[in-house]
Amino acid sequence: MVWTNTKNSELRERAQRVIPNGMYGHESTILLPDEYPQFFARGEGSHIWDVDGNKYVDMMCAYGPNLLGYGFEPVERAAAEQQARGDTLTGPSEVMVTLAETMVDMVSHADWAMFCKNGTDATSIAIVAARAHTGRRKILYAKGTYHGAAAWCTPRANGVLPEDRAHIVYYEYNDLDSLEAAFKEHADDVAGVLATPFVHEVFRDQALAEQEFARGARELCDKYGALLILDEVRAGLRLARDCGWEQYGVRPDLSCWGKCIANGYPISAVLGSDRVRKGATEIYVTGSFWFSAVPMAAAVETLKQVRETDYLERTIAAGQRLRDGLQQQAASHGFTLRQSGPVQMPQILFEDDPDFRLGYGWAVAALKGGAYLHPFHNMFVSSAHTLDDMSVILQATDEAFEAVKKTRDSLKPHPILMALFGAH
Ligand code: PMP
Repeated sequence: MVWTNTKNSELRERAQRVIPNGMYGHESTILLPDEYPQFFARGEGSHIWDVDGNKYVDMMCAYGPNLLGYGFEPVERAAAEQQARGDTLTGPSEVMVTLAETMVDMVSHADWAMFCKNGTDATSIAIVAARAHTGRRKILYAKGTYHGAAAWCTPRANGVLPEDRAHIVYYEYNDLDSLEAAFKEHADDVAGVLATPFVHEVFRDQALAEQEFARGARELCDKYGALLILDEVRAGLRLARDCGWEQYGVRPDLSCWGKCIANGYPISAVLGSDRVRKGATEIYVTGSFWFSAVPMAAAVETLKQVRETDYLERTIAAGQRLRDGLQQQAASHGFTLRQSGPVQMPQILFEDDPDFRLGYGWAVAALKGGAYLHPFHNMFVSSAHTLDDMSVILQATDEAFEAVKKTRDSLKPHPILMALFGAH
C-alpha cells in the first residue's frame, strides 16, 4: 500500500480550529517531522494503524502503557467482565482491595497502595504525603528529569509561579555530592528525594543509575530523616517485576506507578511502606474517576500476567534483537548510532548530529517503511513485539540508512528544533 497522509492532514486542520495548537502535551507531533501522523485509527498487538490506514510496527507503545500488546485478550476480558457489573459507581468495588493486595504482594517495599489516574497524580500525591509525614517542605528533584505536568514539575514554565516551585531543590542525578550539598543546605527541611530508576529524558542519551548513587541516596535520606520516592511511572514493569532499585538492594519509602500497570487502562498508583503510612492517612486526595473498577480489573489481570509469564524476558529479547541489528546496520552504512538505556526502553540518537537532522531524516524514512520510531524520545517494547516484528523494523531502517546516506547533504533541521539548538 502506498503511504499517504491525506486524512491526517484534514484532521489536523480541523483540530487546529478547536484544540489549542491543534494538540498539546507529549502526544502533540509538533516537534516531529510533518509526515508523522497525529491521529490513529486502531491498535492490535505490536501494531498501530494511522487514520490513513498506514500500518506500523509501533515502537512507542502509547508512550509506555502498552505492555502486553494492544487489545491483549485476557486483560480485555477482565475489563469487559467488570464493565458488565459496573465501572464508576457510588463507591469502589471489591477489586480495589484485590489490586492493593496484589501490588503490596508484588513490590517489596510496599505495605499499602492508593490509586489515581495519571502519573502526575501519583507523583503529586507522593510529595504531599512525604511533606505531611515529615512536616517538612523541600523536595529534592534531579535536574532535567520528568515527573509530570503539574505546576511543581511541568517542564514548560508558562503559567507557573516561582512560588509553585519554591520548595523544589534541584540536584544532579548520579552525583552524590550534589545530592548531599542539597541536603546540607536544607538539613532539617527535606521531606523527600525524588528520583526515577534511571535517566530517560528527551534529546539525550539515557543513563542507568549507578549503584553507589542509589545506595547513597538511601543513606542520605536515612541520615537526614527524609523519604526516598522512586518514580516508576515510565520504567515500572519494564525493568523488573519490582522497584528498579531492588537490584541494588535499595528500597524506597514511596513509589509511583502509572502508564502500563493496566495495559493501557487509565490508572496509576502510589505505593508506600508502613514508615510513611501516617502521612498517607493525613492527606486529602481524590478524583471522580479514581475509584472506577474497570481499570482496576484490567490492572489485576495485567499484574497476573506480569507475575506468571515470561513477558519481560520476551520483551528484552525483542529489544536486544533490534539493538544488535541496528548496531550492525549502522556500521555497514557508515553511521554511528548512540543506543542507550535498557534494550526494552531504547533511546536511539545519531553521533555527530547536533541538530538531530540525521535522526529525523532517518525516522521519517523508516516511518514510510512501516516502522514507527521516535527521533528524540525513548521508545518502548512490549511483549507482543516478536522477533519478526523487529525484522520488519530492521528492513525499514536498512532502507532508511540508505535514504539518509543519499539525501544527507540536503537534510534540514526541524524548524522548531533549529530555534532550540541553533543551526549548524
Ligand atoms: N513520571 C515519569 C517518570 C513519567 O515518564 C511520566 C510521563 N511520561 C510522568 C511521571 C507523568 O505521567 P502522566 O503523563 O501519566 O501524568
